[in-house]
Amino acid sequence: MKNIALAIHGGAGTLVKGLMTTEKESDYKAALKKALHIGYTVLENGGDSVRAVEASVKILEDSHLFNAGKGSVFTAEGTHEMDAAIMEGKNLEAGAVSLITGIKNPVSLARDVMQKSEHVFLAGEGAMRFANDLNYKLEDPNYFYDELRHTQWLEIKDTDGFQLDHSIKKDSKFGTVGAVACDKDGNIAAATSTGGMTNKKWGRVGDSPMIGAGNYANNDTCAVSCTGSGEFFIRGVVAYDVSSLMEHKNMTVEEAANEVINKRILKIKGDGGLIAVDAQGNIAMPFNTEGMYRASKSSNGHEEVSIYRV
Ligand code: ASP
Repeated sequence: MKNIALAIHGGAGTLVKGLMTTEKESDYKAALKKALHIGYTVLENGGDSVRAVEASVKILEDSHLFNAGKGSVFTAEGTHEMDAAIMEGKNLEAGAVSLITGIKNPVSLARDVMQKSEHVFLAGEGAMRFANDLNYKLEDPNYFYDELRHTQWLEIKDTDGFQLDHSIKKDSKFGTVGAVACDKDGNIAAATSTGGMTNKKWGRVGDSPMIGAGNYANNDTCAVSCTGSGEFFIRGVVAYDVSSLMEHKNMTVEEAANEVINKRILKIKGDGGLIAVDAQGNIAMPFNTEGMYRASKSSNGHEEVSIYRV
C-alpha cells in the first residue's frame, strides 16, 4: 500500500503567540484535530482523496471558529457570500462555486458541480439555482451570525476598507479553510472554502474558488490549498505555480511550495500560506505570516497540529 496523507488549514495571518487566550488556542487545536481525524479516517478506511478533503473541510465549515460556512465574515451589505472549490488530481476534474448564500457546506456544492454538472464554476444566482435543483436546504442568516465577525465588520463598515479576517491587530484571526489529501491509490485532491474578506463588496471574489489560484490538484505534481490575501494569490496563480515548479523545475513539493510562498508571492507583497501534498504523501505547509492554523498526518508516522511559527 502507498502512503496516505492529509493536511488541513484554517487560515494564515497575524497569529502571534501570547495574544490568544489558552482557552481559545485549545478550541482551535481541538477543531483542527477533529477535522484532521475525520478526513484521515476516510483515507484509512480506503476512501478516496476527494471524500477525505470534503469530510475535513465540512467539519471546519461547521465550526464558527473559521471563516467558512458557519463562521463566514460579513460583506459590506451585512450578508455572507461564500466561495469554495474542489479538485481531483487523477483526471484534473474540478468544481467551484462563488458568491453563494445560505448553503451550510459550500464545499459539497462545489463537489456537486464537479460530479453532477457539465461545468466547472458556477456563481451567484445561477449557483443557487443549481443548489435548489439538487434540493439543498437553505440556512437562515442567523445560522451564519458570529458576534466577533459582526464586530470586525462594524469596525470597517461604511469605509472602503476590506479586511482579511485573520490578519488584524486584535485577537480576531480566523480563516479560510482547506484540505489536501493523498489516498491509498496515490490519487490526490484539494478543497478550499471561504467567506472571503470582511466588508467585501461589488461581488468581490478571492482566490479560493479559482482553480489554479487558491486551489489545484494534479497527480503528476501536487494538490494545493491556499490562504491569504486573495488578490495577490490570484495574481501569482499560486497553486498552479507550485505545481509548475515541480513539473518544469523538478522541485520537490517542499521546495516548490517554499519558493512560491517565501519568494515569489512575497515579491508582490502577498501575505499568506498554503498546504500541499504530492502523490507519494509528502506534505508541505509554508506560510510567510506569523502563523497559520494547520494540521497534518501521514502513514509514515508524522502528525502535527500547530498555529504559530515555532
Ligand atoms: N484567500 C481568501 C480570500 O481572499 C481569504 C483567506 O484566506 O482567508 O478570499
